[in-house]
Amino acid sequence: MEKKETPVSIDIGNSEQKLTVEWADGHTSEFSLFGLRKNCPCVTCRGGHELMGQFEPELFLVEPTRIYKITSAEPIGNHALKIVWDDGHNAGMFRWGLLRHMDEVVSQLKKS
Ligand SMILES: [Zn+2]
Repeated sequence: MEKKETPVSIDIGNSEQKLTVEWADGHTSEFSLFGLRKNCPCVTCRGGHELMGQFEPELFLVEPTRIYKITSAEPIGNHALKIVWDDGHNAGMFRWGLLRHMDEVVSQLKKS
């Protein structure tokens, strides 16, 4: 696996409303929980198989309209992170590559 898609540690910050991921290449990503939850990659949240893998980076930058909390976040094998939310939603498997990709796209948006 590529270092940039290999997590070293994750930190759930429900009170700060963010999830922090440290990667093997030394980079650290911070995701707003609202953006993550709204970009849940599961087929139900995406609205169909053909839309899986797509995401809306703006949702990481907007003012959250509600508070989401993570109940648990567990690695699935070595390819994804399964996030269980406090509203009971548990179908979202965030591939590490997708998380890293989200971070890069959102970082670019912030700069522009
Ligand atoms: Zn979902």
